Amino acid sequence: MKIIDGKNISNKIIENIQKKVELKLKSGFRAPKLAIILIGENYASETYVSAKIRTCEKVGISTQLFRFDSNVKSSEVTGKIEELNYHPDYDGILVQLPLPSHLHQREILDIINPLKDVDGLTSLNTGFLALNRPKFIPATPLGIQKLLIESKVGIEGKHIVICGRSNIVGRPLSNLFSNDQVHSNATVTLCHSKTNNLINHTKNADILIVAVGNPEFINESMVKEGSIVIDVGINRVKDFSNKKGYRIAGDVNFDSVINKVSMITPVPGGVGPMTIAMLLENVLKSSS
Ligand code: NAP
Repeated sequence: MKIIDGKNISNKIIENIQKKVELKLKSGFRAPKLAIILIGENYASETYVSAKIRTCEKVGISTQLFRFDSNVKSSEVTGKIEELNYHPDYDGILVQLPLPSHLHQREILDIINPLKDVDGLTSLNTGFLALNRPKFIPATPLGIQKLLIESKVGIEGKHIVICGRSNIVGRPLSNLFSNDQVHSNATVTLCHSKTNNLINHTKNADILIVAVGNPEFINESMVKEGSIVIDVGINRVKDFSNKKGYRIAGDVNFDSVINKVSMITPVPGGVGPMTIAMLLENVLKSSS
């Protein structure tokens, strides 16, 4: 059994991006620049945004954070996005999710210029991916594909079962892996909360990808012997033995499945670090 080390793989990707940015600067181009829009005070979003900014700056990508109060009017946010859309200094625009409930997420995301949509979440980029003509692919699905490639897992012809159909993880993953492209061409089953007999699907997976947001949801009885398990979940679970009073758990019960599977991603240190690395790749792409 092999543990897929997402931290190590992402570090190599980030080093490579840093070299490409240095080359850009040496050739007389300016540094790529990412605009981040953060609305309200959500602890998890603050943490994710800080990590994105820190990693961008480490590789030489400039960032600018635009903060808005949680009660901001939709028109103020869309106005800022429209300004950034045509501003030549910004290559990428990212709106940190989730948004406060009074804001219409789809309407806001769809204002982003698709050429600067480094999260790949506009309807246009979602459609391009679904039509086998990918432009910007969301970072988490792209990171999962990269983890499998780097781990020398052949994807073509495999049966991939995905649990969770969100627009940021499960649905784009199902399009990515079922597309007729290199490192894709899998047979994909996309499961969700209304799926009957989930276990009948998960047990048939050559590669099982879990993104349900339910700690340790998948156990040994739900996986096929020798299969590959990718755990996307990041959940806080109360743990008073830990100084912080909680621990981070995935959607897979790691200890339960570990002796049955051939490869698995840990949480933390699996998919999470890849998401940031792929965001940087998308920013670099948007600047070229
Ligand atoms: P989400 O928007 O809440 O979607 C959860 C999905 O899981 C939904 O499609 C839901 O089905 C499905 N689901 C819920 N219970 C289920 C069940 N019992 N059986 C089958 N499907 C079930 O979540 P998300 O944004 O995709 O995130 C999922 C997890 O991944 C979270 O823990 C999140 O923190 C983590 N995440 C990690 C990264 C990373 O970088 N590692 C990135 C993004 C998200 P319905 O559609 O029917 O409701």
